[in-house]
Amino acid sequence: MTDATPPERRTRAAQERLRAHGDDAAVLFPSHNLTYATGFSEEPGERHLLAFLPADGDPVFLVPELYDSQVRRATWIDDVRTWSDDGDPAARIADLVAELDLDGGHVLVDDTMHARFTQDLRTAAPDATFGLASEVFAPLRVRKDDAELAALRRAAEAADAVVRDLRERGSELVGETERAVAGLIEDRLAAHGGDGVSFGPTVGAGPNGAMPHHTYGDREIQAGEPVVLDFGTRIDGYPSDQTRTLVFGDEPSDRVREVHDLVCRAQQAAVDAVAPGVTAGEVDAAARDPIEAAGYGDQFVHRTGHGVGLAVHEEPYIVADSDCELEPGMVFSVEPGVYLDDEFGVRIEDLVVVTEEGCERLNETVRGLGVN
Ligand code: ZN
Ligand code: ZN
Repeated sequence: MTDATPPERRTRAAQERLRAHGDDAAVLFPSHNLTYATGFSEEPGERHLLAFLPADGDPVFLVPELYDSQVRRATWIDDVRTWSDDGDPAARIADLVAELDLDGGHVLVDDTMHARFTQDLRTAAPDATFGLASEVFAPLRVRKDDAELAALRRAAEAADAVVRDLRERGSELVGETERAVAGLIEDRLAAHGGDGVSFGPTVGAGPNGAMPHHTYGDREIQAGEPVVLDFGTRIDGYPSDQTRTLVFGDEPSDRVREVHDLVCRAQQAAVDAVAPGVTAGEVDAAARDPIEAAGYGDQFVHRTGHGVGLAVHEEPYIVADSDCELEPGMVFSVEPGVYLDDEFGVRIEDLVVVTEEGCERLNETVRGLGVN
């Protein structure tokens, strides 16, 4: 007997939860849940591509014929059934619903399944009731397994390597546009083994850094102004997401130093607070308290962090008053910021994984302004 692959182990864990909840099956559609459970990943499309996970027994893929070998290569699931473009996929769904005896049962459908596919399921199982697949998948996905942690670590290393590249360029970046630096970041992420970007990079120079969701524009980087650099890539499907605020070419003002030190201390305080059993709200407070005490509370305009997994933003959210208790294996960002309108912004972000004792940072590059 060979060891089960991570997707098979996850599927078996999901089936255990289906049985515990009295659900009869989960039906997945191209989504993070599908990737998680099957190993196959695809964008949602117009063709019927579904995976049926019964509470008992083996899962079944129903895929367009042109996907046959692609799906078989990617997944551990043996039972892959195909339909051809001149066939009737709704009828194949009805066949599977009958075979798995789902009519009259309770069926979880993928949260992001397009309505026309759920409609086919409803037509095939008029007496079934329906719920959302996240009921079983969210509690599993929130605690990362070893394969997921390995991918997240590698993605974090690629992002860290690009931060080092940017620091090395130093004053060479003065006069470059934010757009050019964003392009450089994308190139360097790929050079360090990353697969594309996990989200559009932020290069927020000077006043643009005061807008937390600014991406990049045509502003040229000035010597001595802080630049908010927030970016990530993917490795084996898992993203990185980190932020450094750097200064190039000249010393920054005392005010920039003061705010940067404050954000650095707030970030450290929040990381220090992370441990199993601590609530997400307590971690948010650990970041927010020093910023409020320094008089910048109103300029820290977002939550302290978000979970990171197959989705760049997922549970747990590190937000004020959340009573979500942290558990080993959870991965999330810790990213306090201070945004001074028309002046500049500072944000520092690392991903952390909750361990049995506390937490471990996945991003390890220095957090200083790094003037050179
Ligand atoms: Zn970020
Ligand atoms: Zn983030």
